[in-house]
Amino acid sequence: MVLILFGAPGVGKGTVGTHLSKNLNIPLISSGDILRRNVKEETELGNRAKSFMEKGALVPDEIIIKMVKEEVSGLKKGFILDGFPRTLNQAEELEMIMSNSSYQVIHLEAQDNFLIKRLSERRICKNCGAIYHLVNIPPEREGICDCCRGPLYQREDDQEKVVKERLSVFHSETKPIVNYYRKKGVLKSVDGSLPLQKIVNLIKEKIDHDSDKEQKGN
Ligand code: AMP
Repeated sequence: MVLILFGAPGVGKGTVGTHLSKNLNIPLISSGDILRRNVKEETELGNRAKSFMEKGALVPDEIIIKMVKEEVSGLKKGFILDGFPRTLNQAEELEMIMSNSSYQVIHLEAQDNFLIKRLSERRICKNCGAIYHLVNIPPEREGICDCCRGPLYQREDDQEKVVKERLSVFHSETKPIVNYYRKKGVLKSVDGSLPLQKIVNLIKEKIDHDSDKEQKGN
């Protein structure tokens, strides 16, 4: 099964995806993480992507499509996508990448003001990538990861000015995908401002419901 987690920056795709990945036992593929890894390792594609990411702009389709294609090739049991697709062109390319696999899209929705506040209080572990929130999911010890004791940091693109740019890009370039998936009948909406466990449970219910229908041949 392929599950696409769709939604604005900061709505919780990464955190929700990490929980679902453990629950469903399929890997989480985050396009943002793939890009950050390439930037850190100074690969050719990473060097090309860097300046777009710093501004909060989208990385050109040809770069990210190539990276995601490589990452998901051979994942026979399925996967969860976080942050991809972000343009209609990416959505169409993804259809080809997935060939005949069935897929569902979960649209996590929340207001921009809520997201700006949430992102400015997000902290990430430099070592293992665990995600914290200064108020909602604080680490036991300030600035230190509970899982691996690594240092926590704020992503440069989580600063308010860049967050506002990322949200504006989301509304103009990414949101049109909602209609694309709605027409295909694969889109389910979930309130992204609910507590994490509630969101995870709601998504699992929606997926279970759909696999039941598939098994009954509806
Ligand atoms: P994220 O961690 O998903 O918020 O992504 C961080 C940044 O990586 C974004 O602001 C974009 O610059 C870039 N990025 C991630 N995924 C994509 C994508 N599917 N298409 C284009 N750019 C992307």
